[in-house]
Amino acid sequence: MPPMPDSKSTVLTDRFGRVVNYLRLSVTDRCDFRCVYCMAEDMVFVPRQQLLTLEELAFVGQAFVELGVSRIRLTGGEPLVRRNLMSLVHSLGKLAGLDELLLTTNGARLESVAGELVNAGIKRINISLDSLQPLRFATITRTGELHRVLSGIAAAKRAGIERVKINAVIMRGQNDDEIIALLDFALEHGLDISFIEEMPLGVTSRSDRQRELVSSQEIRARISSFYPLMASAETSPGPSRYYRIPGSSSRIGFISANTHNFCESCNRVRVTCEGQLLLCLGNEHSVDLRAVIRAHPGDMDVLKTAIVAAMAIKPERHHFYDPDRPQVVRFMNATGG
Ligand code: SAM
Ligand code: SF4
Repeated sequence: MPPMPDSKSTVLTDRFGRVVNYLRLSVTDRCDFRCVYCMAEDMVFVPRQQLLTLEELAFVGQAFVELGVSRIRLTGGEPLVRRNLMSLVHSLGKLAGLDELLLTTNGARLESVAGELVNAGIKRINISLDSLQPLRFATITRTGELHRVLSGIAAAKRAGIERVKINAVIMRGQNDDEIIALLDFALEHGLDISFIEEMPLGVTSRSDRQRELVSSQEIRARISSFYPLMASAETSPGPSRYYRIPGSSSRIGFISANTHNFCESCNRVRVTCEGQLLLCLGNEHSVDLRAVIRAHPGDMDVLKTAIVAAMAIKPERHHFYDPDRPQVVRFMNATGG
C-alpha cells in the first residue's frame, strides 16, 4: 500500500517499506571541471533564474529534516562554485534533527573555505581524485589542476574535518594502473578512499563505458595482491561496501552501482539544483518541488505533503547497462552525484 501523503509524518517510507533518511541536495549543475565520465565537452547549464535560490534550498532541506532525514550531502556540479554557498551551509547546519551535514567537492576551491565549512557544521568531505599524475589528472578532468586539489585535501585535514574521503572513478586503460598509488596516498595521509564503478549517465565522449568498466570485484582482487583486505562491518545502506587494512585507520570503500544491486536497502533521494526530486539515480521518476514551492511560497505543509506523496513513485531498482532499457539521459552533474 503506498503511504498516504501526510505533512505530519515524521518518517519517509516508500511502497517497498524502505525508509528514506538521506538527501543529496545539488546546489548547482555548473562546475570548473569537465570530468570525462561526468560531462560532455560542451555542456549547456541551467539558466540561473531556474535554479532554486539559496533560501529555497534551505527550505527544502528543512522540509526533509522535519520528515525524518538525518543526513544531507551538498553536491552538484561543483558546490563550491555556487555564490554565497556558505549562507546555505550555515542555515542547514542549524537544523535541529540533522545529524550530519556533508559535502562532495572536486577540491579545487577548498583551500580557502575549509575552515569556514567546518565552523558552519560540515562534518565530512568527499573529494574526487582519479589520478596523482598532473598530466593525466588534467586529461581526465579536462580543466583541472592536480596541485589545487591536493592543497584542498590538506586544508580539509588541517581544518579538522573528521573524515576526508577520496572518491576515485576507475576506468580501464585510463587510470586503472593507479589503483594502488591512490590507495597508498590515502593510507599515507589518513584518508578514507572509495573506488567507484563508472555509471552510464548522460551521453559523454566516452563511447564504450561498459567495456572500460572496472568492477569493484576486480579492484578488490588487485588490491588484495598487495594488502590484506578485511571486510568491515561499517556498511551503510546504498551501493558502498567497506574494507580495512590491518594497522590502518583508513576505510576502503567500493561503490558498485553496476555490478551489485543494493537497491533493496536504498535510503536516499536527490534534489537537483532546479528542485526536481529524483527518486532514483538510475530512473527518471521525479517530482517538481520548485513548482510546489513557487505556487505556495513559505508553505511548509504543502511541500512536505508533496515529498511524502513522491515516495509512492520511488522505483524498486535501477537497470544500468540493461540493453532492453533506455539509457538515462541525465548527466551526473545535473543529477547531484
Ligand atoms: N563536483 C563534485 C565532485 O566531483 O566530487 C561533486 C559532484 S560529482 C557529480 C559527485 C561524484 O560523482 C564524484 O565523486 C564523481 O567522481 C562521481 N561521478 C560523476 N560522474 C560519474 C559517473 N558517470 N559514474 C560514476 N561516478 C560518477
Ligand atoms: Fe565537476 Fe564533479 Fe562532474 Fe567532475 S565529477 S565534472 S568535478 S561535477
